[in-house]
Amino acid sequence: MQLADSVEVNEQGHLLIGGVDAVKLAEKYGTPLIAYDVRKIKKQIRGFKQAFEDAGVKYMVSYASKAFSALAMYQLINKYGLGCDIVSGGELYAALKGGMPPERIEFHGNNKLQDELEMAVDEKIGTIVVDNFREIKLLDHILRRKHANIGVVLRVTPGIEAETHQYIMTGQSNSKFGFDIRSGQAEEALQQLMKNPRMNLMGIHCHIGSQIFAVNGFLMAAEKLVEVLADWKKRFGYEADVLNLGGGFGIRYNDFDQPLPAEEFVSAIVERVKELVAKYELKMPEIIIEPGRAMVGEAATTLYTIGSRKDVDGVCHFLAVDGGMGDNIRPALYDAHYEAYLADRPNALREQMVTVVGKYCESGDVLVHDCALPNTKPGDILAMPSTGAYGYTMASNYNRNPRPAVVFCEDGKSRLVVRRETYADMMACELGLED
Ligand SMILES: *Cc1c(COP(=O)(O)O)cnc(C)c1O
Repeated sequence: MQLADSVEVNEQGHLLIGGVDAVKLAEKYGTPLIAYDVRKIKKQIRGFKQAFEDAGVKYMVSYASKAFSALAMYQLINKYGLGCDIVSGGELYAALKGGMPPERIEFHGNNKLQDELEMAVDEKIGTIVVDNFREIKLLDHILRRKHANIGVVLRVTPGIEAETHQYIMTGQSNSKFGFDIRSGQAEEALQQLMKNPRMNLMGIHCHIGSQIFAVNGFLMAAEKLVEVLADWKKRFGYEADVLNLGGGFGIRYNDFDQPLPAEEFVSAIVERVKELVAKYELKMPEIIIEPGRAMVGEAATTLYTIGSRKDVDGVCHFLAVDGGMGDNIRPALYDAHYEAYLADRPNALREQMVTVVGKYCESGDVLVHDCALPNTKPGDILAMPSTGAYGYTMASNYNRNPRPAVVFCEDGKSRLVVRRETYADMMACELGLED
């Protein structure tokens, strides 16, 4: 097995994360530890913006914050002028705490709660991505009561199936998200929104899936959406200001994944939208994309301490670490495949094949299947790269294990951005039977 090209080591041969020795990080902060290389996040931010800048079109890169919604992350993207997607009141709260300007916040979700919509209206966020008829009604009631207005974008399902895992596939007609185009729902929603004086219909949105490697799915989605817009202009006189093509840009988890650079996705999308807009004689809309995984996924490495092992000859070789499905449920949930190496000798010869498991009381608590590693001893630090997206945000306290700490590393310095939970933290909501 080959290592990622991006694995950097110091003179001692130890893995470096943002210029910091990973073994020292584990000593200083303990494990499990999620360590981000901040430069990798910044590289993605620049990559997604650059192709839009080069093309000179109006755009917004809206970070899908469910991928990693730490306060530090909102603060970082805000510095770079990005927008963000939120999908709950909790994410909205965190985004605002992180200083995100409300007008650059988009609210997604298939069952936004009344309280959440009220909060979004009160905070005057930029966009509600309207998902269904009940939501239109609910939002209308709130806006009437509060004598308020808000920008909305219509989420549609274009009927495109991106090649990806079925749990993370959302563009097809039987998706739980958005208004279906084929059955006429999208058109019905358009007419309701056009008539509503409290909702400013800015455009349409689709999100075709996640961990997508080919640009083609995005081009097909752009084609479908612009066709729809051309039809709506003709029949209803509606012209969109915003074309939001969602996220889903793939990243490298292991050798089998070969993602495109952010710039290539964006320049292909921009070029196609320009062609389509010219063909149908529409005005050029602002293009919005919503990368989540691609913004942060490859930037983090999780460090674990190796503990016990179980070997049954010819049957199994389990190597256990001090974390697991509580800090990274993706292998158990999606059958996601990761790789791993040792922090103090990432380039050492890989002499054994093991299954890396966690410490949780589930047989499904596996982190890496068929992992080639050098011979290890308890106390060695295992590094699992590409754990920056949907790891910490999906973390749980199962078995009352505290959630890990998160550090940002850059130019040889580390900074704790999320401290490790304590046992007391995990009891904070408990009222018990007696006071
Ligand atoms: C999850 C999601 C994204 C981000 O997806 P990634 O695969 O993390 O890029 C973007 N837009 C919407 C609407 C989403 O639900």
